[in-house]
Amino acid sequence: MSIFPPHLVSGYRNFTSQRLPTEQYRYRELSERGQSPAVMVIGCCDSRVSPEVIFDAGPGELFVVRNVANLVPVYQPDGGAHGVSAALEYAVSVLHVRHIVVLGHAQCGGIRAFIDNKEPLSPGDFIGRWMSMFIKPGEKVGQRDHETLQDFIVRIEKAAIFRSLENLMTFPFVRERVERGEINLHGAYFGVAEGSLFVLDAAAKEFRSVMELAGE
Ligand SMILES: [Zn+2]
Repeated sequence: MSIFPPHLVSGYRNFTSQRLPTEQYRYRELSERGQSPAVMVIGCCDSRVSPEVIFDAGPGELFVVRNVANLVPVYQPDGGAHGVSAALEYAVSVLHVRHIVVLGHAQCGGIRAFIDNKEPLSPGDFIGRWMSMFIKPGEKVGQRDHETLQDFIVRIEKAAIFRSLENLMTFPFVRERVERGEINLHGAYFGVAEGSLFVLDAAAKEFRSVMELAGE
């Protein structure tokens, strides 16, 4: 039996001595009443992009699903097991979230793998197959235009957010609630180095610094 990582044990001790006392009431209340987060976040697995940290969220505030490159698949009721779709179904139908945020980020390893298109990491080529849902048949989203590699990468990282938002609308239970104004869809992009956050202006199809929105 391997030893549980000591730094996780000490981290948990810090949690019980510092954060838990201030949150204990809330944890108890959530335990009795159940969760009712207003926001679902679909983010990347990347260890640098933790939604709870970025949005300074406490227990019960965010319903989070994370996967490689923050992708939402197309609605596919084919009898298969679909993790993101299951989380989405629960968030929408049971928790009645009001907002779904797709949170992308800079230096995304999943996007980089998609761009580099190297040999599969294992015989299953799980990343390759996962990332392939990002492209529509015949689409040329992965091709570099007249742009620097850095600009290209950022463009594709943002394209993944657009694609996920588009795919969210293929789920009938999401689409109907969006159309009734019961759910709002949002895109956001986190700049790891600066800790910067950009949110999607859907009408302009552009990401704007959240600092520009301050005071609105
Ligand atoms: Zn990522």
